[in-house]
Amino acid sequence: MTDAPALMSVAFISDLHLTPERPASTRLFKEFLGQAARRLERLYILGDLFDYWVGDDGGAPLGHGGVETALRRTAEAGTRIFCMRGNRDFLIGGAFAERAGCELLPDPVIVELPGPGPAANRRFLLSHGDALCTDDVEHQASRREMLSAKWKTAFLQKPLPRRMEAAAAMRRRSEEAKRHKTRAVMDVNQAAVENLMRQHGADTLVHGHTHLPAVHRFSLEGKPAWRYVLGDWYEQRSALYYHRGILALKK
Ligand code: MN
Repeated sequence: MTDAPALMSVAFISDLHLTPERPASTRLFKEFLGQAARRLERLYILGDLFDYWVGDDGGAPLGHGGVETALRRTAEAGTRIFCMRGNRDFLIGGAFAERAGCELLPDPVIVELPGPGPAANRRFLLSHGDALCTDDVEHQASRREMLSAKWKTAFLQKPLPRRMEAAAAMRRRSEEAKRHKTRAVMDVNQAAVENLMRQHGADTLVHGHTHLPAVHRFSLEGKPAWRYVLGDWYEQRSALYYHRGILALKK
């Protein structure tokens, strides 16, 4: 028996919000993929890798061809890369995944990670996190609409320039709406968190979306439970690392 699985190194990241308007984040991410990510056995990207995504044919036109190539090279070098869609890049599809060498994940999904150490035997529930913001009634309504097959099909049938315009308009509306919402409304709802964890028999939840990196410890069914919130990549590389069964959140 080799002890390789026990040494598994994993990183969870989210909310990079890559966009041609913020080239520094793209540089930071490419640097990460070329160096630190190569030492990982698994990299989990939990949504909003891109600030917006108008369909898989829009990747290169939006200037993300280099990111796709960098992801694929890291995957080819041996790191398994898992990609979950976020509320901004929910239109990511199989063609992107193929080009980028990623495996698409449903939201939510359970993973178990091997190894000795305190976190090794936990059941990890991974989610982008926006579905848990149930106090934001407006977001939940638009989420339901846009995740419907009907909306997606109609949107993806439009020519690329029209999808780009529509995405820009949606971003403007979302920024405007956020100005009128409190931080509490835009955060996750604790009852929604606990319901989802109970439903999946999970004791550890890892999510992003809120850009409020933190470790929350609470009690669920009388047992300890943890919620790890990932931060964004506007200025730094926020990540949750798992190594030898130990979790470390780098804000
Ligand atoms: Mn998000």
